[in-house]
Amino acid sequence: MRPFAYERAQSAEAALGAVSGTSADAGQPTRAEAQYIAGGTNMTDYMKLGVARPAKLIDVNRLQDPALRRIEFDDSGLRFGALVRMSEAEKHPDVKRRLPVIAQSLMLAASPQIRNMASLAGNVLQRTRCEYFREITWPCNKREPGSGCSALDGVNRQHAVLGVSDACIATYHGDFAQALIALDASLELVGGRGRRSIPFAELHRLPGDTPHIETALSPDEMITAIVVQAPPWAARSTYLKIRDRQSYAFSLASAAVALDMDGDTVREARVALGGLATVPWRAREAEAALQGKRLDEDTARAAAGAAFADARPREHNAFKIALGQETLVRALIETRDMEI
Ligand code: SF4
Repeated sequence: MRPFAYERAQSAEAALGAVSGTSADAGQPTRAEAQYIAGGTNMTDYMKLGVARPAKLIDVNRLQDPALRRIEFDDSGLRFGALVRMSEAEKHPDVKRRLPVIAQSLMLAASPQIRNMASLAGNVLQRTRCEYFREITWPCNKREPGSGCSALDGVNRQHAVLGVSDACIATYHGDFAQALIALDASLELVGGRGRRSIPFAELHRLPGDTPHIETALSPDEMITAIVVQAPPWAARSTYLKIRDRQSYAFSLASAAVALDMDGDTVREARVALGGLATVPWRAREAEAALQGKRLDEDTARAAAGAAFADARPREHNAFKIALGQETLVRALIETRDMEI
């Protein structure tokens, strides 16, 4: 590992000051000279591999604002402080009762040890596990813009079939983000542009021709809170994750589903797919195929077909289309049958 400076910030202003003035190519976390660190479960991984090479780490764990460490509820929804640990959120009784899709997405992620360390904001900013991105001897457009994509004709069983480009097919593997995008969450940010709020759906960028630019955040911006509406019907929600082994593995396919039902008929459906796309993936075509319909297996299959109409598989990952469809069908039926 390369030597780096370490600074512990006591306030958001101090953290911003520590980052500003350093050279940080906009949106290029691999090349930024200064990086924030909270749980560090992703950052230290990539620093050890030589993928991320920050000259300075700014530890934000001691920021004085207590709201950063709180989960707050009111009638309309909940607000997660950015430094809340994954394990705290997954065990929170109100999260489990009012938004089970969120509790389940956290509980099925990583290992208990990692969930005890990882912050919620860090979790949504986790980076791809593409093997060619992690091994720095391979060409990779995300790590080294313009160098090529080794996965296109390489071993691409784990890679994405939705939202891909000719420059990058890396999968976004996070689970929590799928629940957030399904529920129309938003983010509160602070940075050189002041305080602002953005829809969670605008955080991650499709790879396009610039896969090295992964998010809409400015280099000095940090997430301060994640806000999720919690209408009563969102208690009918599920996260289903399919993987090679049942513990401590990333998803091959997953589905986050929330249903507003009028008897057997879908008033409104929220659907997101994980392990299948380059970014957290809202399956709006599936939602449209469900709306106003009686939810039975045929309807669920039609919705699943619509979700993958634009899928672009490579040599080793075509199985993900059928797997993703089956995962979504099962998640829809299980969510329909929940007793709330
Ligand atoms: Fe790099 Fe993306 Fe290609 Fe993986 S899929 S090698 S991350 S450009």
